[in-house]
Amino acid sequence: MDRSPHATTFDELLVAARGIAKEVAAVHAADVDARARFPQETIDALKRVGALSAPLPKACGGAGCTMRELGMLCAAISGACGSSGMVLAMHYIQVACIMRHGAESPYFQSYMHEISEKQLLLASITSEVGTFGDTRSSICAVERRGERFVLNKDATTGSYCAHADAILVTCRRDSDAPRNDQVLVLVKKEDMSLVQTTTWDTMGMRGTCSPGFRLESTGSIEQIIPGSFSDGASLSMVPYSHILWSALWWGIADDAVAKAARHVRNEARKNPGTVPPSATRLAEVSLQLQTMRLGWQALADEFDAIDARPHGRQDLLGLGWALKMNNLKTSSSEVAPQLVHRALQIIGIMAFKNDSPLSLSRHYRDALSGSLMISNDRIAAKSASMLMVFKDD
Ligand SMILES: Cc1cc2nc3c(=O)[nH]c(=O)nc-3n(C[C@H](O)[C@H](O)[C@H](O)COP(=O)(O)OP(=O)(O)OC[C@H]3O[C@@H](n4cnc5c(N)ncnc54)[C@H](O)[C@@H]3O)c2cc1C
Repeated sequence: MDRSPHATTFDELLVAARGIAKEVAAVHAADVDARARFPQETIDALKRVGALSAPLPKACGGAGCTMRELGMLCAAISGACGSSGMVLAMHYIQVACIMRHGAESPYFQSYMHEISEKQLLLASITSEVGTFGDTRSSICAVERRGERFVLNKDATTGSYCAHADAILVTCRRDSDAPRNDQVLVLVKKEDMSLVQTTTWDTMGMRGTCSPGFRLESTGSIEQIIPGSFSDGASLSMVPYSHILWSALWWGIADDAVAKAARHVRNEARKNPGTVPPSATRLAEVSLQLQTMRLGWQALADEFDAIDARPHGRQDLLGLGWALKMNNLKTSSSEVAPQLVHRALQIIGIMAFKNDSPLSLSRHYRDALSGSLMISNDRIAAKSASMLMVFKDD
């Protein structure tokens, strides 16, 4: 890999990410979308600046970025290419799971250094044929054979698995464990075979390349992340997913509204001294956009504050925090396509055209994936049962 020196601080990474968004992601986004292909150029550019190790502590070669900082990096990329932003966010979620639950293990300590040095890309398989979108339940099990394991899984959806250096896979702890007694296992590219079982010809997020796969894998038992996935999900996978996804959906909406603003200013220049009627709609949409940004940033800041407190992680296991995460995910995934829709109404036909610089076709289609990515109905049903017992003090 052609490697220039890694950016070591968040500020450097943000400047680099904004440059990559403009000069690389935006240039290739239409082709990535049209051909439903992996955004290789953008991910390579992110690797060159060291962005793939941004969440890791400096001692492991990372930049030690906070949740809010990671969200800003994902949003910067997703404005130019939603699929690239989603790949980056999903990778950060996996790195966070290793960093927060593998830190005591010499194996994962060393693996974190490897992620930084080689800028490894990590994917995730939680979905499985037969579990119907319930991430907290698995049919497959990890089978220990001495110092090695065997893990086979039939996944319904696996983003960029064919392009990743490793995949974190959920499964039952052993073949006698119930479906909800899960662990997370790191499976490396050299130890797995992937047979694609379905296609990925979707409305949006086409560049995430997320068909179904039959995974067959083996590895050292050290690659099983210590502890239960139940805790890992509450403490790490859910907060990182819901906050970073919200950030990147906001990035898509922000770019759509920026296009609408450009259009309104052009209209205003045609009739100096007058305010075009669409400016009122722009004022309304910018309010909604600001509310969406404040929503994900407030919870990112809250997460960072909780995490910085000694024993703060206990708070992340409570119903109050779980409800906040559910509310953030469902509200931001619903608002993002609405914002793109309103931007489309402001711009009109030039946003409706696929070949116009103001086109919002890809933004719209990408934003629609949010409510399905862990179904909002499924999340609402979980929130409803929590609200039966939760009392907000
Ligand atoms: C862009 C994208 C990338 C993805 N990447 C990955 C990946 O990398 N790895 C991975 O493992 N998975 C991935 N997924 C899959 C994702 O995590 C979910 O597993 C999947 O989207 C759920 O599919 P489903 O709609 O069939 O699920 P379900 O949750 O089963 O929902 C099916 C239907 O049932 C309804 N429903 C479900 N539960 C309830 C309920 N309690 N009350 C009322 N209605 C309900 C829903 O409204 C929905 O219409 C990705 C998905 C997308 C969209």
